Amino acid sequence: MGPGPTMVEPRVYAAMGQPVVGHLDPYFFQVTEDVRKLLGVVFGAGSHFNMALSGTGSAGMEAAVANFTIPGEKMAVFANGFFCDRISEMGRRYGAEVVRCEKPWGEPFTDQEAAGFIQREKPKVVAFVHAETSTGALQPGKAICDAAHSIGALVIGDCVTSLGSMPVEVDATGIDVAYSCSQKGLSCPPGLAPITVSARALEALRARKKPPSAWYLDLKLLDDYFDGAHRYHHTAPISMFYGLREGLRIIAEEGLEKRWERHRRNHLALVAGLEALGLRMHVAEGKRLWVLNTPRVPEGIDDLKVRRRLIESHGIEILGGFGPLAGKVFRIGLMGASSTRENVLLFLEAFEAALRAEGYSPAASGRAAAERSYDA
Ligand SMILES: *Cc1c(COP(=O)(O)O)cnc(C)c1O
Repeated sequence: MGPGPTMVEPRVYAAMGQPVVGHLDPYFFQVTEDVRKLLGVVFGAGSHFNMALSGTGSAGMEAAVANFTIPGEKMAVFANGFFCDRISEMGRRYGAEVVRCEKPWGEPFTDQEAAGFIQREKPKVVAFVHAETSTGALQPGKAICDAAHSIGALVIGDCVTSLGSMPVEVDATGIDVAYSCSQKGLSCPPGLAPITVSARALEALRARKKPPSAWYLDLKLLDDYFDGAHRYHHTAPISMFYGLREGLRIIAEEGLEKRWERHRRNHLALVAGLEALGLRMHVAEGKRLWVLNTPRVPEGIDDLKVRRRLIESHGIEILGGFGPLAGKVFRIGLMGASSTRENVLLFLEAFEAALRAEGYSPAASGRAAAERSYDA
């Protein structure tokens, strides 16, 4: 129940145990074609250009930055958490002139702040983190995308944590390049990074005069391997593709909207429970992720000791904050297969016991408050 990797569905493990074929076998390209189509659905992308990159979420991030920034050109980053800093660092390494709009960790940008910054800076590329796993805050993308498109800029959206568990909907939002990972909202093991590219971004990619300096993540070469001439580029991790396809099928069977609703309900019940215990949420109501919850650590309590008790007595892993939030928040994940009523209730009981053992007196029963939230 941390910020990922999340629990993996047994069906995904079973799929990964199937015989490995070659990376140029026609059967493998049937699998990648299924993955391409299923990714279009979870991304909410009409684009044909969807693929899973060999690597984790950071490979998706690096592919987005490497392919869609041009050395010397301006890239604007909305920075209010850890992963925005990683995008900025990659932008600098690929030679972009990075300009940052900054806010304290956990405070999303308002529509006016986003539009004002973009109009003032006139970047070629804008990057934002849709679901900041380091803080638990959601950054809506619509205002950012509208402002960016009005000056002809492309938008990169980090949907690593949200994809598959919260609405991402790249077409409706206007995100040109969105990437994710297999081990968070999609509930598969770590190892693949889904990415989708809009028609507008594809035009920019085709118009590049020089190829990106990252050969391994060159999207044009990768497209030629996965979807075009099927020319060898690298040996794709076959078993991971079996697993991701199965994970995406599970999402399709549940139904995307039903899955979002499951995450929303479990999040609300968990928050009701945490607040009943007397904890305060770090992120303001209405701006919180459904998949990653960040209650503040109560005064005088050592978060590491509470977390150690949880894992030692109950086998439940959650994480703490880092950077400016080190020691200040707990990070409790409810992603994919981990987002269940059973987990919420079990967690609240275990958490209450661990807090009590550390000398904290809860205001009321967290479990009872969560049950009331489900019944409401
Ligand atoms: C986890 C995460 C990443 C990095 O993904 P890895 O799979 O760890 O490489 C990037 N952005 C966000 C928002 C994340 O939560």
